[in-house]
Amino acid sequence: MNNFNLHTPTRILFGQGAISDLRAQIPADARVLITWGGGSVKSTGVLDQVFSALDGLEVLEFGGIEPNPSYETLMKAVDIARREQVTFLLAVGGGSVLDGTKFIAAAAHYPQDIDPWNILETSGSEINSAIPMGSVLTLPATGSESNKGAVISRRATGDKQAFHSPFVQPLFAVLDPVYTYTLPPRQVANGVVDAFVHTVEQYVTYPVNGKIQDRFAEGILLTLIEDGPKALRDPENYDVRANVMWAATQALNGLIGAGVPQDWATHMLGHELTAMHGLDHAQTLAIVLPALWNEKRDTKREKLLQYGERVWGITSGSEEERIDAAIAATRNFFEQMGAPTSLSAYNLDGSSIPALIAKLEEHGMTALGEHKDITLDVSRRIYEAAI
Ligand code: NAP
Ligand code: FE
Repeated sequence: MNNFNLHTPTRILFGQGAISDLRAQIPADARVLITWGGGSVKSTGVLDQVFSALDGLEVLEFGGIEPNPSYETLMKAVDIARREQVTFLLAVGGGSVLDGTKFIAAAAHYPQDIDPWNILETSGSEINSAIPMGSVLTLPATGSESNKGAVISRRATGDKQAFHSPFVQPLFAVLDPVYTYTLPPRQVANGVVDAFVHTVEQYVTYPVNGKIQDRFAEGILLTLIEDGPKALRDPENYDVRANVMWAATQALNGLIGAGVPQDWATHMLGHELTAMHGLDHAQTLAIVLPALWNEKRDTKREKLLQYGERVWGITSGSEEERIDAAIAATRNFFEQMGAPTSLSAYNLDGSSIPALIAKLEEHGMTALGEHKDITLDVSRRIYEAAI
């Protein structure tokens, strides 16, 4: 196991009715800006619950943060936060609202003479302070509720880039599985696939004797495989929703990735697909992952075999056959959840690839993966194999 330095400071308020603990998490003299998305939290009643819980506090709101939150929209909220001297941000929604709020938090405190897009260009390394934030999560998927990452898009230039900073990690996350009952099937699938891919990005690499991390990862994967399809079939099964929600948080709160190699190439290739073609984040992952594993089967050999055996019970056949079977099982699982695993399913063909490669190059994504050996040529082969 490699050395690590892990700090996971987000308080988790988990379970049905957890909103009742919300008020105690926010300073009594705070000037709060509540942020939300396209309106699901209005129609489901979650926003009303948040307002009731905060009754008596000074509260402003900013709605309209879109999926794959855009710099253009978020800058309007940055203006409000600066003008109104907001001292606390409360994100209510899915990963897009949470990520967007992380950007607002950092941008509001960014030096006024620097365009906050610089936060993305410097991957968050220049952030020295941010407005404190908390979250009420309605879509288990990204892990954004208890990590320091965010992904922001810029519509004008077709960019989608990530940043990380400890200053934007939410102080708390309200995780009420009941809030996820209203998710449309496509978003249930997206959440399960995203959490699954977060897990394997930190697990299917190369062995470093991180036995405990491997077992954590396998536990998350088995839970998602068991309960993901049940969440689709039986949307109001509380225990199923609770397990999916907690699995998604655990998949990307730092724990399973501590002391082990990490890949993240599937995410980087996926971001370009979302930015250029508008696919949902998890849809891109379901397309890229099987092709990437096939391409990297030699350097990932030991972990692919372990994954096949422990997660899918694949024990017979040659090594190549077992790896093929592990990739096929993964592909079937994504398809079973309702996430297609090829570019052609979205009417994309090889003509889309040169522009994707050009964007990867522009973003410095020229040496990806746990071995930094996914060059632009390798990325091109992965996209081609994904057609
Ligand atoms: P999302 O973009 O936040 O939400 C997708 C859709 O689901 C929205 O239309 C939203 O509607 C709706 N929705 C959310 N909760 C709902 C509910 N309870 N009932 C009904 N509808 C609901 O999806 P996401 O998958 O959570 O976030 C994706 C973003 O996160 C991408 O930009 C991705 O790149 C990023 N990401 C971040 C991390 C990280 O670590 N920070 C990791 C992976 C991915 P409304 O807009 O109307 O609310
Ligand atoms: Fe993701």
